[in-house]
Amino acid sequence: MGPICQAWKKSCPTSSASFAPCASNWRRTTKTCRTLNSPSSRTSSTCCRRLISKSQALMRLKPELIDQLLHPTLDPKAKKQVIAKGLPASPGAAAGKVVFSADEAVRRAKDGEKVLLVRIETSPDDIHGLHAAEGVLTTRGGMTSHAAVVARGMGRPCVAGAGAVQVDYAAARLSVGSVTVQEGQILTIDGVTGEVILGEVPTVPPQLSGAFGIIMAWADEYRTLQVRANAETPNDARQAKEFGAQGIGLVRTEHMFFDGGRIIAMRRMILAADEADRKVALEELLTMQREDITELFRIMDGRPVTVRLLDPPLHEFIPHTEAEMAQVAKAAGVPLNRVRRRAAELQEANPMLGHRGCRLAITYPEICEMQARAIFEAAAAVGKAGGAVPVAEVMVPLVATLQELSILKEVVEKTAAAVQKEQGMNFTYRVGTMIELPRACLQAGKLAEQAEFFSFGTNDLTQTTYGLSRDDAGAFLPEYKAKGIVEQDPFVSLDQEGVGELIKVAVERGRTARDGMKMGICGEHGGDPASIEFCNKVGLDYVSCSPFRVPVARLAAAQAALKLRGEKALQPSTKAAKPLQPAFGPW
Ligand code: PEP
Ligand code: MG
Repeated sequence: MGPICQAWKKSCPTSSASFAPCASNWRRTTKTCRTLNSPSSRTSSTCCRRLISKSQALMRLKPELIDQLLHPTLDPKAKKQVIAKGLPASPGAAAGKVVFSADEAVRRAKDGEKVLLVRIETSPDDIHGLHAAEGVLTTRGGMTSHAAVVARGMGRPCVAGAGAVQVDYAAARLSVGSVTVQEGQILTIDGVTGEVILGEVPTVPPQLSGAFGIIMAWADEYRTLQVRANAETPNDARQAKEFGAQGIGLVRTEHMFFDGGRIIAMRRMILAADEADRKVALEELLTMQREDITELFRIMDGRPVTVRLLDPPLHEFIPHTEAEMAQVAKAAGVPLNRVRRRAAELQEANPMLGHRGCRLAITYPEICEMQARAIFEAAAAVGKAGGAVPVAEVMVPLVATLQELSILKEVVEKTAAAVQKEQGMNFTYRVGTMIELPRACLQAGKLAEQAEFFSFGTNDLTQTTYGLSRDDAGAFLPEYKAKGIVEQDPFVSLDQEGVGELIKVAVERGRTARDGMKMGICGEHGGDPASIEFCNKVGLDYVSCSPFRVPVARLAAAQAALKLRGEKALQPSTKAAKPLQPAFGPW
């Protein structure tokens, strides 16, 4: 692919004679030329065009703007009445009739209506509604809240933490100041600006042309960081592969149990009163887990897949309403009172720092055993069916001590040996850990004795380093930004001075203990260009992000590599036509 044209000139830069001869880095052309910054192509019978290199072209692009190309955007010419602003949690624009429950979203979507799900915050109970809705608006929660993470994963637009919006579920309406919106009235959200707009604003569909593929191929020539995706459903995995993901860096296994009937099995397992009860529930979960992971391995076709052991913040899974508890009691065949009592016992004052992550599997090793079995049986199934056998990476979450990792690694290894014997086949696997607590960073040297890879979980690492709740920070961070206390929401763009320092320490200590140890990042920062540049600088091997951010990450990784080589982020010197989308387009 040759260089691309930078600008049109009416006459050649070095010649007083019209159009000839061209200077060395300009080319005479009579063809149509489309500049990077011009939405319109222009033709001329004869002109000179200046050429820039591929790397210069890449450095002129804004990776964030690629995200917009992959989703519908608001028609820039349309009038809009903005009634509130929240966090731009997942890109794209969506308009729909407001609904306040996931069930209502599904009911109306089945009737062909476009709906916008509005919740104070979402939980796994709302997943079917998120699937059915065009987009989601929450009034509470930050950039790594449940709604934000799940919507980004699905590629659904989301505005989160729009605190000015008051939701009244009982009256099925919301209000912002004097404006009231009843269920069924239309709102539009813009997941890029965080705007909440009254009525329907027309949108412009995304248009990917060959130029998009060309830019991505150029980016791949320069980048050294690998790009993986966070994905747990077959759709997400396919989408990620289509966007060029080189593997899956994070399968959040608890997300595999969000849907419909599955959440009941999960609740049964969590609420089980004893090991026998739990084993029955685990058997049910094993079948689902094995099928799901087999499908992911098949789709990823030999690319690495990192499966994380269960990490459910319990409050997201415990049934809250009487109806939900009755459902679990019926499914488990136990008295309702027992479920009520158990649910009360499991309530935590601070679930994010509670009985989650590896702590769950330390208490109930049979959960770890079931998951390891599902992963290895899936690897064996794919191999036996003639597919590329993946290198299964088993990842332990929220580890603080070497002992936690050692205990669970032993369970995984024993299970691997058992499955290999049963299946009569050998497969390669690795056991690694997430690094998402400051203590884990400091203890990275010790952890690397057991861990075969590290993946930085920067959502929790930011939460625990800053002492900022990822679900509540959205309420006051905008003010922190306005007052200049923070430049960026640290859940969006890595706090390089604080969290970044801990990452540097962990990389250095980890690799000192285990030479060449593979390291990546799977927190939401894995899709943020500035954070990607940091990851490149500190020597991580890969970033993993939601599927729709994969193209952004590919370009950002190329720019990071080019910057390390001393390439400057040049601004176009052209006075070409005004860009349709700043510094990017027009594919
Ligand atoms: C993280 O903490 O960065 C992470 C990827 O895990 P989760 O968001 O599921 O807690
Ligand atoms: Mg985490």
